[in-house]
Amino acid sequence: MQPEEHLSRELYTRRGFVGLSTAFVVAIATGNVYASALTSSEMQSIKQDWHMHTYRAGGRPDAMVADMIRTNEKYGLELMGISEHIDRLDQREDFIKKVKANRSEASVVPTKMKVMIGTESSMINPNLCAVGDEIPNLLDYVLVSCNHYHLKHVENPNSKTPQAYADHYLEMLMGATELGYVDTIGHPFLHSKLKGKLGQEKLIKILKTYNEERLVSVLKKSAEVNMAYEINPRHADQALEWFRDLVQEARLHGTKFTLGTDAHAISSLGYPDQPGRTCLDILNDLTLTDQDLKWKPIKGFPLVD
Ligand SMILES: [Zn+2]
Ligand SMILES: [Zn+2]
Repeated sequence: MQPEEHLSRELYTRRGFVGLSTAFVVAIATGNVYASALTSSEMQSIKQDWHMHTYRAGGRPDAMVADMIRTNEKYGLELMGISEHIDRLDQREDFIKKVKANRSEASVVPTKMKVMIGTESSMINPNLCAVGDEIPNLLDYVLVSCNHYHLKHVENPNSKTPQAYADHYLEMLMGATELGYVDTIGHPFLHSKLKGKLGQEKLIKILKTYNEERLVSVLKKSAEVNMAYEINPRHADQALEWFRDLVQEARLHGTKFTLGTDAHAISSLGYPDQPGRTCLDILNDLTLTDQDLKWKPIKGFPLVD
């Protein structure tokens, strides 16, 4: 494909919140927009997975640490993270035991991959994260999910309108940026866990309702504190154009992404193909490149010894 064609196709598909970004307008005016997308090549293979669960907290019986490591190695990953669930404050003690067990199991498996022991922690309200401030010291990384709205103890907006959910979610994200230890946000923006309650149409409506200016300021703050956003190809594929806009807007501010399967079983690791195309196709449709991804947790390496 010629660069020019690429550029016009991308410009054509861009709409929505990116339109209001001053940075974007300036970039168009100066001809710098997509410079990074145009000079970097398409992603050739998927090499990271920051989001998976073991049998210890919600995963299937076969989701055992050693097998997960071996399976991901077989798929050619370079970086993987075990993101054990913690959703409530009263789970903290038990969670610490699970983390220690995960770490000791991981430490005896020979692998060339970087293996991180971490969590998927629920944001309970904009000022409270289930994992708290102390436990992250025991972890290699922290993934926080700000849209576990299906859980009874997680604060929902008073009104159930798309606008109320959109506003509340941005507050949750802003709250997550304040914590300082959040590496990435799980299944962001599209609240699939509310599908049963609100219906898919309303979920898509929430996406279109995000206040553009506030969303951009959340992205900027995220870049400042090295907080990335997860792209799960299956999840993003439900609103491909919206997520492509997100990727392109984020790129302008230096906000990064992590990839994750959210696997709860061995068979869900390695980004299984979606009907008609592969997860890699979806990532390339989003224009994601390896340069858009986060490759190192806030704490840095080395991790497992
Ligand atoms: Zn989740
Ligand atoms: Zn998960």
